[in-house]
Amino acid sequence: MNADNHTDGWVERLVRADVRATAAYHVADAAGLVKLDAMENPYPLPRAARDELVRRLGAVELNRYPDPQARALTARLRQTFGIDPRWQILLGNGSDEIIQILIAALATPGHGVLAPAPSFVMFRLIAQWLRVPFHEVALTPDFALDVPAMLEALRTHRPRVVFLACPNNPTGNIFAPEALCALIEAAEALVVIDEAYLPFASRDQADLLAHYPNVLVMRTLSKLGLAGLRLGMLFGDPRWIAELDKLRLPYNIGTLNQLAAEAVLEQYPALHEQTTTLIAERGRLFAALGADPRLVVWPSEANFLLVRLCAADARATHERMREHGVLVKCLDGSHPLLAGCLRLTVGTPAENTRMLQALDAALEG
Ligand SMILES: *Cc1c(COP(=O)(O)O)cnc(C)c1O
Repeated sequence: MNADNHTDGWVERLVRADVRATAAYHVADAAGLVKLDAMENPYPLPRAARDELVRRLGAVELNRYPDPQARALTARLRQTFGIDPRWQILLGNGSDEIIQILIAALATPGHGVLAPAPSFVMFRLIAQWLRVPFHEVALTPDFALDVPAMLEALRTHRPRVVFLACPNNPTGNIFAPEALCALIEAAEALVVIDEAYLPFASRDQADLLAHYPNVLVMRTLSKLGLAGLRLGMLFGDPRWIAELDKLRLPYNIGTLNQLAAEAVLEQYPALHEQTTTLIAERGRLFAALGADPRLVVWPSEANFLLVRLCAADARATHERMREHGVLVKCLDGSHPLLAGCLRLTVGTPAENTRMLQALDAALEG
């Protein structure tokens, strides 16, 4: 059989046109490069965590379904992150799955999703996949929430879910508390505060839960050093979580993931030490980049820095950095506010030094 005509138009006839028109989520090939494009923690698992993980793997009962409620892991997360006993926790296969659950449970064809822009692309992509409207409101030029424009969008579009990443990706800033409160108070919507970068931030927003009935907080272990694990969490009032939990696929967190996350979180201080190093390195990079007249760098509460090249072409610079062995993220073209911008993930001290050299060499042309 000829592979070329094997499906004979079946795929074209049956797969939704909007799906066929969608580009697959692109992950750049980083083979052989210093990988500073995806906000990964550059350090391997701390030794004690690795040993504990290996020790427990031998006893895993893979013939059994996982604990559907992941009770031991949930208790461990509650303890590690000091989550108030009033709040219930829902776990997802990364925050991405939680975003999908939230949108599936709340949004309708008439009442979709609202987020500022630029922000995390998955908010928009998942709304599109679930065929609900997605509305975005540009941040101000200094990346603050444009509160009047957001309030107007709330009135006009009446979304059911609002996503606010705090710190925001890719801008790295935490939105002002007054702006958050103004939006939460005006929204006839669930406001989800996405704290993916909390390990690198000066403060969290969990206090909002006690003040507002329409807020939930989402976190992830990805940026903490466990991106490969895929574990996200959402917490807040048990009545919200009980409804959302109905749409969670049973056993979405496999036995290996539950066990690995538990073992690693028992060694949380070692992970925390890694984030402390990364925060110090972020400071070093910020100072070095800030002293370079060829670019603008913004302060960041995350494990990346956003820079704008004053004169150089960002795409060409990105490509030349890759030729010098360093992969970063080019954001030029993804949003008007990001014209000429690159996003640089903070790596190990040696990686950061190489990144600065590659950027310098690329800007020299
Ligand atoms: C990286 C990131 C996440 C993490 O998603 P996971 O699916 O948990 O890996 C969530 N939100 C934002 C804003 C991010 O940048």
